[in-house]
Order: sequence, then C-alpha cells, then structure tokens
Amino acid sequence: MTTVDSSSSATRTTCPYCGVGCGVLATPDRNGGAAIAGDPEHPANFGRLCSKGSALGETLGLEDRLLYPMIRCSKGTMERVAWSDALDHVAHRFAHIVKRDGPGAVAFYLSGQLLTEDYYVANKLMKGFIGSANVDTNSRLCMSSTVAGHRRAFGADTVPGCYEDLDAADLLVLVGSNAAWCHPVLFQRMLANKAERGARMVVIDPRRTDTAGDADLFLGLKPGTDTALFSGLLVHLADSGALDHAYIDSHTSGFEEALARARAIAGSIGATALATGLSEPDVANFFRMFANTPRVVTLFSQGVNQSAQGTDKVNAIINCHLATGRIGKPGASPLSLTGQPNAMGGREVGGLANQLAAHMAFTPPDIDRVRRFWKAPRIATHEGLKAVEMFEAIGRGEIKALWVMGTNPAVSLPDADAARASLKKLELFVVSENVRSNDTVNAGVHVLLPAQAWGEKSGTVTNSERRISRQRAFLNPPGEARPDWWIVGEVAKRLGFAAAFDFASVADVFREHAALSAFENNGARDFDIGVLQSLSDRAFDELEPVLWPMRLGDIGSQQRFFAEGGFFANDQRARFIAPDIPALRSETHAGRPLRLNTGRVRDQWHTMTRSGLSPRLGQHLPEPFVEVHPDDALRFGVFDGGFARVVTDYGQCTLRVAVSERQQRGMLFAPIHWSEASASAARVGALAAPFTDPFSGQPESKATPASIAPYEYVFRGFALSRVRLELPSHAWWARVTVAGGYSYLFADNADLAGWQSWLRSVAGPDFAEYKDFGGGVFRAASFAQGRIETCLFVGPARDAGDWNVVKSLFAMDALSDDQRRMLLSGKSTNGLASAGPIVCACFGVGRTSICDAIAAGAGTSAEIGAQLKAGTNCGSCIPELKQLIAQASVAGADQRQLARVAS
Ligand code: SF4
Repeated sequence: MTTVDSSSSATRTTCPYCGVGCGVLATPDRNGGAAIAGDPEHPANFGRLCSKGSALGETLGLEDRLLYPMIRCSKGTMERVAWSDALDHVAHRFAHIVKRDGPGAVAFYLSGQLLTEDYYVANKLMKGFIGSANVDTNSRLCMSSTVAGHRRAFGADTVPGCYEDLDAADLLVLVGSNAAWCHPVLFQRMLANKAERGARMVVIDPRRTDTAGDADLFLGLKPGTDTALFSGLLVHLADSGALDHAYIDSHTSGFEEALARARAIAGSIGATALATGLSEPDVANFFRMFANTPRVVTLFSQGVNQSAQGTDKVNAIINCHLATGRIGKPGASPLSLTGQPNAMGGREVGGLANQLAAHMAFTPPDIDRVRRFWKAPRIATHEGLKAVEMFEAIGRGEIKALWVMGTNPAVSLPDADAARASLKKLELFVVSENVRSNDTVNAGVHVLLPAQAWGEKSGTVTNSERRISRQRAFLNPPGEARPDWWIVGEVAKRLGFAAAFDFASVADVFREHAALSAFENNGARDFDIGVLQSLSDRAFDELEPVLWPMRLGDIGSQQRFFAEGGFFANDQRARFIAPDIPALRSETHAGRPLRLNTGRVRDQWHTMTRSGLSPRLGQHLPEPFVEVHPDDALRFGVFDGGFARVVTDYGQCTLRVAVSERQQRGMLFAPIHWSEASASAARVGALAAPFTDPFSGQPESKATPASIAPYEYVFRGFALSRVRLELPSHAWWARVTVAGGYSYLFADNADLAGWQSWLRSVAGPDFAEYKDFGGGVFRAASFAQGRIETCLFVGPARDAGDWNVVKSLFAMDALSDDQRRMLLSGKSTNGLASAGPIVCACFGVGRTSICDAIAAGAGTSAEIGAQLKAGTNCGSCIPELKQLIAQASVAGADQRQLARVAS
C-alpha cells in the first residue's frame, strides 16, 4: 500500500463532492488532519473552492471510521476478522450462490464517489467473469437520463462542451439546476462571465432557488413541463428562421418528425405558456433570447434528470441545440452538470447495468471485443437490473447476494423504507465502507469491509466536462482500510480469476482501462484515452488534469465534440428525438393534494456521512425542513418554524416548516440529507415514488403526490455534548456537529421531569440546573475541567434558550464564573451576542450580524464582505447575502409607505 510522507508539502488532489471536480491542495498537519486550499492551477476551479470543499479539513476525523473487516457471527453480532478470512468468506459465499442460482442471483451496487479504477475492477469482475450485468450505481439516481439522452441523440454518452464555454457564452440557460448551491464554483464562473462580458442568464425551475437570484429571466414552470417548454422553443426556432439548415441537413436525421411532435406538444407561444403555466411574455422573451443568441449554453442537472420523463427532457433540450448547430462550439453547447465527483468516471468504465465497458454497449460486436480484451469467456451478454429494479428483485428474493460499495441506498433510493426492508432478505449482504454505521450497514449487513476514504485513496476521477484528474493520497489509511480496487481484486482472485485481476497498483488498473478504451477503436468510439495506456507509474502519479479524447498523437488537441458533426451512430448523424407527450406518472388527488420535490442544501452532501462531520457546514441549515408556499401554509394550517408531517403513499416524515415564496403553490420541497443516523423522522427518500424513466431507469424524485398537516410540539430544546447521545425515543430530533462536540435540536411533548432524569443519566457529577416546571422551562449543564460536558435546554418555543449563544460557550475550553452563571440564562451577554443562524460558513458570519450591517448601510454583498468578510472566500453565500439586502430594501420600502400613509 502507498505510504504517505506527512511531512511533505501540499498534495494536489481533487474534491470528493460534486461533479465540478475542483482541484484541491491538501497539506497534512501531522495530526491526521490537513490544511485545505483550492488548486490555482486546476482548470476546473483555478483556486476556488465552495463552502463544502473549503471545509474538507474538518471531515478527516476517525471517530466513525470502520477500521477492520467484520463478519456477523452466529450470535448475530459483528466481529472483527482478518482480511484473508473476510475475503475468503465473501468469495466462497458468492461462488456458492452463483453455482446454485446462476449469475443473475448476485449484484453489485456502486457509487459515483468510487474512483475510476475501483469502478473498473468491480465492473470487470461482475460483467466479465461472474457473467452478470447486475452492476448498478447511485449515479442511476443522479444523471442516468442524461446518459440515455446522449446515447439516443449522439450514438454515445458524449458531453459535447466544456467549462470554457461558460466563459464564452452570451446566454446561459440553467434548467432544473440550483447551481448556486449544488455546483457553486461553476456558478461563480458564470457570474463572472455575466459581470465581465454581460452574458445573460435564464433560470428554469419550479422553485425560485438562490440560482434564480442572479437571473435576467426566471421561468418558474409547472413541474414536469420542461419537455413542453423546449418543444415550444423548437417550434419557435423553426418558425422564426433561426434554424441552421446546413447543420441539420449534413449532420442529423429525424428533424421533421421531432418538429411535428413538438408542434403537437406546444405549437405556439400561447400553447407553451398554457402547458408550462408561464406567462406568454416570459415564454416569448426566453424564445427570443435563445433564437437571437448564437453563443448559448444550456446547463441541466437533477431537475431534468430525476424524472420519469427525464430522458425526453434531455432530448428536448438537445433537439434545440442540434437544430441551431449550437453544439461543440466555443460558448455553444448543451452541458449536463453531474452531481457526483466521479459519475463520469463510472460512465467511462461502463459501471451502469445497461452499459458494458468503456462506452461500449451490449451489442454482439462490443460483447465480442470486450470478451477478447478481458479474455473473459463468461462475459455477460445482456443488460442487468437498474437500481430500482435491482432492489425490487432483492425484495422478491431473486437477487440473493449484494455487495454495496461506498453508498447508502437505504437512505437515498426512492421508496427507501421498502429498499431498506428488502436488504433483510439477502443471503449475503456485503458492504465496503468508510464508516462503521449508517442506515445501510444497520439494515442487516453480513460482511463489512473497511475501504479507504478521501485523503487516503489514490486514482482518477472525471468531472462534468470530461476532465480526468488525479485523486492523490495525502494521509496514511487508518487501521486496515484498503482501496476498493484491491478489495474487489482479492475476491476475484479467490473466485479463480487471478490472471485477470493481477493488478500490482492503481496505475496498473488505469493503464488497462486506458488500453480498453483504445482497443479496436480507431475513432469509432468517443471515449478514447489510449494515449495514457503506457504511462509509467511515475507519469501516472504526476498526471496533470486532462480532457478526453486523447488519441495517439493528438493529446489535448480536441476540447469539444460535434461542431462539424461526426456523431457516433453508424451513419455518423445525430438523431432528433420526438419526445412523448409529457405527462407526470402520478396525479395529485384530495388525499395527496401537493407535489413533493426533493433536493439538496448548500452546505451538505448526500447522506452527510462526510460533510456532516464539519461544524462549519452544520450551521447553515441544521434541521431537516419542508418548504411551503405561504398560501399552502395557510390552507393546510402549518406555520413558519412549526412542525409538519409530510405523508406520501410510500412513507412519512416530520419536518420543520419553512414558509417561503420561493416555493410554488401546490409544491413542497424537502432536502434529502438526513438519515436515521442523523434525525428521528426525516428520511425523505422514503417519501419519493419509485417510478422510473422508461429509457434510463432513473427514478422520479421531484413530483411525488403528498399531503401535509401540522404537528404540534409543546416543548423545543437543544442538547450539547462532547459525545454522541441517544435521545429519548419520544422526541423529534436532528443531530448537528458543532465545535467541540455534537448538538441535538429537538422538540417533544413529554413532561420535563422525564428530561431532567434523562439528562441526569447521561451527565457527569458536576452539575447545575435551573427549573421552572410551572413555566415549562428546564435547563441544566454538567462540567468537567472547567468546560461544559453536557447541557440541555428545554422550554416552550418562545423560551427554549439561544442555541447560538450556548454553542459559543460550549466551544470554550474553560468558562469564567460569570459565564458559568450566565449559561443557564441562555441569553446573550457581553462578547457573546448571538450572531444568529450562520449564513457564511467560511467565516462563521450569522444572519443577525449581516442584517445589522445592512441596517447600518451596507448595500451590496461586497460592502458586507468588506465589513464582516462574509462572502469573500468561496462565494457560496453571496446569493443569500443579496437576498437579505433585497429583503431589507423591501422592508424599508414598506416602512416608508406606512410612514407616508400615517402622515
Ligand atoms: S464546487 Fe464545491 S463541492 Fe463541487 S467540487 Fe468544487 S469545492 Fe467540491
């Protein structure tokens, strides 16, 4: 295994979160941590990092790490075993089940956070040697509709453009993408283009997100109507003379059929407005902007992909770019923003059940080619089960062995309660993980294998623009953690495939992957990195970030695809696709009158197993919530700051209510990050319908019929502790990491005496308390070595104590007598005035401080930055700063109006 010299200077690596793929400089600190900075030379970010990337240094702790292989023993408990025993056991059990029930009875479920080399080895083992294509990945939930759309249109899963197009475009159209929160560094790049070159921005989303705050035009369309909007646009382009006939004639087919279907869906501006719920002037304005701007990039993300009509939506967008020839040209292209750091690497490898390998499909010539390359006579010959189908097959008992690598499907799959229940039926359930415990591990795992985490892993990842970057280790792996490619390879050897899995290093795996991409390729396939197949170990280690394709002799010469045609269908033409008439799969009705949209928040990632370790990142939106339009709040009797139960046909959650005009009437929004490990009743994946797109198999995560009703709690409160606590089972709670420990924000209806005895059971002997049971207030704290060990504040909503002030005291190493006396008052005091909920995660600047600065005259985000530093590092909070300025200006105008009326 690689040993890292922790005395060395910064290691150039990549961020493990989103598909922007930012370069990171990590400097180990000799205590197992590292200082983190953006890599100024990485072309994805040029030194910038967002709030998540900036806080990576806070996520390297070992507290939750899985350090040794473990197997469930006959008593039902998990016991530590030697690696050789764990690997023998996994191989033996897989072999037994395959022999008894055939290769279709086993499956791998992978992750867009695996490195390309991990993906390659897992895909090769399952498809090439076990002989099943039941290899799918959480990327199915992220961008598989884009893969299907690309393949239908281009004949291959090719991203035509690159990030430089964001600098060169005159019009940036963001569809179903909250880039300000989910791809912040690219969003800042777009804003720079806007500021420096005057590029305009159109944001298309049912929800008015922070991304819309900077838009020249915001189109808050009805959910599921993107296909209608882009069909209307295609008609407008045809009718207004904006088509590129030469491009259509020379390089495409199917235009007339697609246009006829578009006319049937949305044949005019009026029909488009009717179908999408937009105003005619807004539709006309967008169509005019698109038609009149040759340099246009349409960026799309989960709002397009996570839909039972996602592939059609992708193709409706691509149709407009093909029709105008605006593809693969500087500043002109469709561009999919991938959610995960290495979703693209997984696609390159073929780590999806409907791909074979290296952008080859399950066609007889491709199967034969890969069979010969891998020397794999048992290669799978047809597609496997996609994620949702795979878990349904597990539930039916058809798949009997599952190996999950680096992902948490018991939280993230739609209908997640059913997915979690299905895991209990497995005969063999293996998980490779960094953490000892999460919802998936706790769903009855039989074998736990400790995988290396970010910081310890070495290999490559590919970002949204096809740029391959090295992820380099800068920490030594703790315990017996191993690379995923090594773990899978060792099992493969024990299954009898030693010759095919004799990889000595990660560079060895990469060279084979690169060689396969070029094998009998000769320009027939888009994915070709053959020039890298002979890299020495040292050259691999020093590999600079590179865009593919990279054919022999032309490394770096091609940045984009398709400006001059050259598609990957047999006739080299792109296909216009006539989409189905758009219709959501499920109707709302009296019992489920709303639609639930799910998504992400700015400072968290997936199920928070990594980002949840950072105190900084936990402060922005610490509790699971549901966003509701004010009219719906009134209609359903819920109020801002209260609680509500959200119910669908699949599950229910209890969430804090955030009433917001950002939300459309009839829609709810809830973020997906909380799990059973981090909150009592907020597994939002359990609410989502498992409907899937017919082409991509991607589930509909954004339009599940739902109901909402108020849920009352008499008491609110919070606890802070140096160690994790188990709260009473009757409480609603959410856990958040804070400086020095953990905090639990909770609500409850049980009596205060119960909380008093609970606290006494978990707190130390140096104990102080304040109780006013008649007034519904109880506060207590225990101390050790002058600092707070545990504290608890419970009270009615108006008197539950100031969390921000108590957090500040909790973070201190020693409290003065005054501070100790003041603690149980829970109120602000000298030097500890509450800054309010954190807005700027980088500098810990709270909303109250920002509002004070605005009230004192700061009128721009730059002026706030000059005073408080907020927004001056990663820029992720700038949209929120602008919102607060706008709110203050509206409030000021209202006050002036009132004053005028009064006078
Ligand atoms: S934008 Fe943020 S989360 Fe995404 S790769 Fe860059 S630093 Fe990481």
